[in-house]
Amino acid sequence: MIGILAVQGAFEEHKNMLEKIGARCVLLRKLSDIPPELDGIVLVGGESTVQRKLIKELGMFDVLKKHIDSGVPVLATCAGLILLADEISGNEDTCFGSLPVRVRRNAYGRQLGSFTAIGDIGDIKNFPMRFIRAPYIESVTSGNNDVDILNVTDGKITAVRYKNQIAMAFHPELTNDTRLHEEFLQMISRNNRIL
Ligand code: GLN
Repeated sequence: MIGILAVQGAFEEHKNMLEKIGARCVLLRKLSDIPPELDGIVLVGGESTVQRKLIKELGMFDVLKKHIDSGVPVLATCAGLILLADEISGNEDTCFGSLPVRVRRNAYGRQLGSFTAIGDIGDIKNFPMRFIRAPYIESVTSGNNDVDILNVTDGKITAVRYKNQIAMAFHPELTNDTRLHEEFLQMISRNNRIL
């Protein structure tokens, strides 16, 4: 069962895409929605400051953090990437801090608020990347060699994988391309094989 954080943002789109490729999902709107066992967690796009506030106010932070730190595979998009980052430019408060990168919010400025680019995401070729008031990754925390950089667009890191976490600045759930969600399901099945 994959838990999709559903306190705010684009959770329905992730649910539709994951169900289309055969996964079972539960929307996590409140603490009691979080099952004791989760195979995967999706952190969705939206507004990271609102999401962070709600995760804490609804008492969901500790349980989610425990799942993430225990190695449950995580797919994070856009605001979700910001929730995972261990540093946010401008000294903004972080949330889970489990991903050793520094992100900059709303990093493309007003003119480029929303745009699409095509690029390779690791081994996945020609992926349509939809950016919406997106962050980008300014840097990987120094000395950390376990972060795989999956995409650089215009000199900016937009997608990484680190241990159980795959995070991107763009929105695969708003396209018809299911390959990144399929990759996430593969991370889950590899994880279950190890456990
Ligand atoms: N700008 C948003 C934030 O900082 C992220 C945008 C998105 O998720 N599409 O939270």
